[in-house]
Amino acid sequence: MTTETLSPCPILIDNEWSEPQTAETASVFNPSTGEVIAHVPMCGADIVDAAVESCARAARDWAETPPIDRARVLFRYKMLLEEHFEEISRMITREHGKTITEARGDLRRGVEVVEYACGAPELLKGESLENIARGIDCVTYRQPVGICAGICPYNFPALVPMWMFPLALACGNTFILKPSEKVPLTGVRLIELLVQAGLPPGVLNVVHGGKECVDALLKHPKISAISFVGSSPVARYIFETGTHHNKRVQAAGGAKNFVFVLGDAEMDKAVPGMIDGAFGCAGQRCMAASTAVVVGDAQKKFLNPLAEAAQAIRVGATDRDPQALMGAVITREHRDRIVGIVEKGMQEGADLLVDGREVRVADAPDGFYLGPTIVDHVRDEMEICATETFGPVLNVMRFDNLHDALESANRQAFGNGACIFTTSGKAAREFAHNVKAGMVGINVGVPAPLAYFPFSGWDYSFFGDLHVQGHEGVQFYTRTKVVTSRWFQPGEGDIWHKD
Ligand code: NAD
Repeated sequence: MTTETLSPCPILIDNEWSEPQTAETASVFNPSTGEVIAHVPMCGADIVDAAVESCARAARDWAETPPIDRARVLFRYKMLLEEHFEEISRMITREHGKTITEARGDLRRGVEVVEYACGAPELLKGESLENIARGIDCVTYRQPVGICAGICPYNFPALVPMWMFPLALACGNTFILKPSEKVPLTGVRLIELLVQAGLPPGVLNVVHGGKECVDALLKHPKISAISFVGSSPVARYIFETGTHHNKRVQAAGGAKNFVFVLGDAEMDKAVPGMIDGAFGCAGQRCMAASTAVVVGDAQKKFLNPLAEAAQAIRVGATDRDPQALMGAVITREHRDRIVGIVEKGMQEGADLLVDGREVRVADAPDGFYLGPTIVDHVRDEMEICATETFGPVLNVMRFDNLHDALESANRQAFGNGACIFTTSGKAAREFAHNVKAGMVGINVGVPAPLAYFPFSGWDYSFFGDLHVQGHEGVQFYTRTKVVTSRWFQPGEGDIWHKD
């Protein structure tokens, strides 16, 4: 029996919200209950084209708007986000399934990007040098790239869109946002507030959909830049197709992050660090701890308390149970896929230290639940070692020494995050220097950079040059113009009329 009310899921063009009558819609679920809470329109090329034309009409005036005036819109937006903070956090919990604490973190990290983007006049300053030759000066300006599009994953319904549009707008671009079709409601609410903050019509438009919609964005000749965050196969496709169509592209992909625990680590810090890293957001984070790399003596000291802590996690319906520490995963199909990966690992010789497959939530029998699961004795050659599970599953790999452990981790294709728990500065330094990952934590379980640093994945975790956030984000959303100037005195340099 359905008890949830259906939420509208409109598109935005020229600051007008409407629900297009598309041939297809997709269901949006509350993962905690398994109920449908909205139908999202799957837009095609016609709607993308209308959004692009709207952006094109608004582009010149927005680009000419002084950076401080663009920042003022973002200041007002920041205030509105604070006012509606709880409401949006609850919306994230409802459509994603993460706990309210995690939802608040998702939104807070996004608000921090808005705060950073409010510094537009400072961020956009160029360089200058007098007398590059006698009487000749040189300055650089950062100009907007044009119409940008953002294509988002489901796992951070607020943060990932906010990695993109606040900075793109601060830099003077117009923007088309395509939230994930699995969690579109948060994206719509974020943009309702942006319009309320005074964003002029056409500066940001919202479309919804899947591959057809994305392809229309990737191939549209008037779009100059694409920001993408999602799984690696799609990230690679976005990068190849977007660059083929002459766009600059930043495409962040998936991950398989290794968290090392050495025998000298403070276990009372390493255990909660690993538990939060592996099971926070039910493991649906690109910076999740996917593999505990347990070295030497740590095998005796770390694994029993880890298993006990995992078993103590209360799994529940996060939209109604404030005691729940972990929620459901995004869809039933995703749950089944994760279980399939775990079972393949068992066939290949891994053991279950903690088995979450039978975890059920009594008051929400149709939710998409999977309890914390720890898979021990994982080895390099197993599929579960290299595959991103993106769920509450932690692999355990055992090694005698740091050197062998590092060699194994560095053989993996992904290169997002890597962490170490140790009290040895020497080991930490060796790890940070040699590990093949773009974001490293030392006694920090989830080393996700904040708004003022780039989110710096490597290898199969990122396609492109300039990452989201921080100065790299500013560089991505601007292009540099170098102006070289010389002003003559009357008669000076007049080579044709010299006596
Ligand atoms: P996904 O790749 O399935 O979808 C991401 C976006 O791409 C969605 O908007 C979707 O509509 C679109 N899409 C899906 N298939 C497509 C196709 N064939 N062609 C064109 N567009 C397509 O990812 P997801 O399941 O929504 O999100 C989870 C993934 O995102 C994980 O792999 C996770 O690691 C990754 N992620 C990475 C980062 C990072 O910073 N590296 C951050 C968050 C999430």
